[in-house]
Amino acid sequence: MRVLAVGAHPDDIEILCAGTLAKYAQRGDEVFMCCATDGAAGHMLIPPDELKVIREQEACRSAEVIGAQIMFLEEDDEFLFHDRPTRLKFIDMIRWADPQVIITHTPDDYHPDHRACSELVFGASFVSTLPNIKTDHEAQEGIAALFYMDTLAGARFEPDLYVDVTETYETKRQMLNCHASQVKWLKDHDNIDIHEFIDGVAAMRGLQCGVELAEGFKAAWVWPRISPERLLP
Ligand SMILES: [Zn+2]
Repeated sequence: MRVLAVGAHPDDIEILCAGTLAKYAQRGDEVFMCCATDGAAGHMLIPPDELKVIREQEACRSAEVIGAQIMFLEEDDEFLFHDRPTRLKFIDMIRWADPQVIITHTPDDYHPDHRACSELVFGASFVSTLPNIKTDHEAQEGIAALFYMDTLAGARFEPDLYVDVTETYETKRQMLNCHASQVKWLKDHDNIDIHEFIDGVAAMRGLQCGVELAEGFKAAWVWPRISPERLLP
């Protein structure tokens, strides 16, 4: 299977669904990652031009941990909008990965870029099958199933699907550690120890489904994305 995760910022995927991606990779599925924005706003001291290079390198290192391919759409951090040119970029990115499963932010997440990313993925993953819409890559043959990943701290998110990530949790940590600039930024700006943060959420989702550590998801079950199969690992 081909699986695509799309995060608004470099590090969103690691925080919210990397244990699941590691599990897909471990069982031999092909994993693709996409960062929609360049993350250039995410630091107190490092200027934007320098930071976006650092963050791209961090994200590449993280993708390497599970052998995933990664694409950067290089939209401006904090200014991701669901407009025509951005939708076309998303369509082309989805065609590049040609996934059967896509994971992205939930539409009512806290951050405006996360919300825009969610809408863009929802729209583009439908349109990506239409051959009359031309981009650099060929139209997909089928519409991918779409899953929404957890919110930060699990706030206002009620999963209807869980993935046991107990065995891939160390890989998730390793991927998140690649984002060294953000471990510091989240402490400085949001007063969060990101490791404690993800540990707490994983333990809570684990309690809910009876395993040690889990990640939670919701399915975007709208026609024609509904599948009778379990598509999460
Ligand atoms: Zn984010």
